[in-house]
Order: sequence, then structure tokens, then C-alpha cells
Amino acid sequence: MKLLEYQAKELFGKYGIPAQKGVVVDSANGAAQKISAANLKFPVVVKAQVQIGGRGKAGGVRFADTPDEAAKLCGEMLGMNIRGLVTKQLLVVEKKDITREWYLSIMLDRYSKSPLLIFSPVGGMDIEETARTNADKIVKVPIDPLRGVEDYIITYAFDKTGADKQYRDQLKAMVEKLYRMFFDYYTMLVEINPLAIDDQGSLIALDGKVEVDDNALSLLPDITAFRGSLQEDPQVIEARNVNFLFIPVEEEGTIGVMSNGSGMLMSCIDLISQKKMSVHAALDLGGGATAERIAEAVRIMLSRPKIDTVFICIFGGITRCDEVAKGACLAMQKAEAAGKHLILRMEGTNKEAAAKIVASSGLPITVAEGIPNSVEAIYRLNQQKLSSSGKQGA
Ligand code: ADP
Ligand code: MG
Repeated sequence: MKLLEYQAKELFGKYGIPAQKGVVVDSANGAAQKISAANLKFPVVVKAQVQIGGRGKAGGVRFADTPDEAAKLCGEMLGMNIRGLVTKQLLVVEKKDITREWYLSIMLDRYSKSPLLIFSPVGGMDIEETARTNADKIVKVPIDPLRGVEDYIITYAFDKTGADKQYRDQLKAMVEKLYRMFFDYYTMLVEINPLAIDDQGSLIALDGKVEVDDNALSLLPDITAFRGSLQEDPQVIEARNVNFLFIPVEEEGTIGVMSNGSGMLMSCIDLISQKKMSVHAALDLGGGATAERIAEAVRIMLSRPKIDTVFICIFGGITRCDEVAKGACLAMQKAEAAGKHLILRMEGTNKEAAAKIVASSGLPITVAEGIPNSVEAIYRLNQQKLSSSGKQGA
């Protein structure tokens, strides 16, 4: 789960990482009053709260010299679309006089199998450009989880990048706090960009990005409470409400894969990808596949307009395949399933009865044996689709 900037800064506050609090505005009406009640010193910065970086370059970070100007900006920026995300909240903070913009982050690095510290004294909005043209100004150091943030890591970061050593102690203290937060909150990424140096020579987090591992949310009530104001995928929410796990995979994909267990989902996706086809979304049904649950899961899948083929792969010793087949038929009878196709692979009790139910339904459902055969069936369907739209050979 990706937090909004003001939420990230709330966590920074808990750990004593300097960050401005400011005021969050969610409607143009009350904006002027809220800003004046916050007693901010002008000029201020009005910042779109969307879970995406690069807001500055997309017009999502603007400056205002007076309360009237700030209120006017709020009116303009609420509802603004920033690379596909709608701005529903704004953070208004005082504009800081800054002398430098640094970059600091800790991420979970699968390659080194440890937290990775990334630091650069050339941060800010052009950090990607720095990475391309000035790579020696960015340092990456794994942090041994058994030893924590040791002195040599900070020394190395300064030596390697040539950063001004007078800020060494401040940076070390900040990295230690950020590292504690990284662990306590089961994060995959904590990022401060820019980590600014203000006109008093103090480090301050002017932006904050925090990505929490979804699997830890049940342990983190304060993070779960943030959820209401986040923009989540509608199908992810819909699925979660009925205890399914919906995973968007590739935006351009046209296949939806459903299974009872994430291991088998991944195997299915791998085999489909090997055939150069693309999966749009996956859905983990969990246990207990009743006809109604299967039908509901297919309905959720088909509410993604891109999906034209749904693959249901059920492997269960005691799962009743006739229930699965009934559910599949129920779903495919619905108007929203018109023109769509379903591939069904079932293993379990009443498998033969299930095949009969499908065969007598007259619906566009193909029953297949095993995953490789199912993928073959999906591939043939895909080829037919391509040839009928005249794109074969692409
Ligand atoms: P994003 O990373 O999404 O573009 P930032 O919060 O990093 O958004 O803001 C972009 C730039 O705006 C920063 O690099 C900084 O130069 C400037 N900025 C942001 N907040 C402030 C602030 N409170 N005071 C002064 N400048 C700011
Ligand atoms: Mg930033």
C-alpha cells in the first residue's frame, strides 16, 4: 500500500524525522478558512496528494503568495488528474527557503536480500536524470539487518558522492530513524526526495513516499486507517470485501486467471506468458468454492472491460467440481459475459458430472485437462481472435 505524502509525513513525525505538518484540504469551499486557521506563514506550497511521484513536473506542486491565491489554487487543483489519478486532497505547507536538495531512501532489495540505502546529494525532481548522467553521485549500500546502520555506511555514502561532510551527523541520525521506521512498518520503500537543507543548515523532509507490505496490514491499525483516503483499484476493493484477492497484472492483457491458491495462479500466469500472451488480472479464490462464489468471482473479473477470456483453474481434493461448473455457467449466462469465453480446468470430486453440466449448457465454456492443455486452449482462442480481427502473424 502506497501512502500519501501527508500520511508519510505523519509517520516521519512519530520517528522525529523533521517534516512540515501543514494542513490537508479536501474541498474548495472550506479551503480559505482551513488555511487561515492553520496559521501558516506565506508563501505556501499547495501539493496534490496522489500516490504517484513526479507531481511537481505534472503541475501538482504549486506556490501561492497570499491566502487568497492559495484558496484559489485549491479550487483549481482539487479534481485535477495527475497521470490517471484524481486529486481528492491537497497538502498546504509553508514554502521553505532551501539551499540544496538531496535524495535518501531505503528499499527492500531482492538482489542483496537486505534493506538497501540509496543516497545522493543531487536529489529533487531530476533524480532520474542524475541516475542517467551523473551516476557517480548516487550511492547504494546494503544494510546488514543484523548490524543495522553502522558508521561506515554513512562514511562511504559521503566519500563516494562527495556530499558536504558538515551534515554527516544529521544525516546519520536521520538514516537511523528512517531505518527504524522501515522495519517497524514492514515497508518495501521509504523515500525522502527532496531531503532539503534549509537556510538554517538543517535537514528536512520536503516530500515523503512510503510503501507498506500489504501482507502486514493486519498488524498496522494506523496504516489501515489511512486506507479510506487512498485510491485503490475498484476490483481490488470489491474482491477484498468478499474475501477474494484480486491482483492487477498487465494493463494491456486480455486474460483473467482465477485459482484456489497463489502458487497455482503464478504457475498459470507463467505458462500463459511463455506463450507470449498477457494476463490482465489474477484472482485468488481462497478455500470453499461454492457455485455462488465462483459466479461472483467471474463477475468481478469480467467487470474489467479488457478481459475477454477467463481461465479458472481449480485443484482441490474435496472441492466439488459440479459446484464450480454450476458457478461458471451461472456467470456466463449473464449479459456482461456476452462475447467472452471461459476455460475451465478442474480436478476434484464430481469432475465427470461437472463436465456434463458444462457440455449441456451450450455456453462458451471449454473444459480442459491440466494446465498445459488449458493454456493451449487459451492460445487457440487467442489465435482465432487475432485472425478474425485480421492481425494474425503479429
Ligand atoms: P514530487 O516529487 O511529486 O514532484 P515534491 O514534494 O518532491 O513532489 O515537490 C517537488 C519540488 O517542489 C521539490 O523538489 C522542491 O523543489 C519543491 N518543494 C516541495 N515542497 C516544498 C516546500 N515545502 N518548500 C519549498 N519547496 C518545495
Ligand atoms: Mg519528491
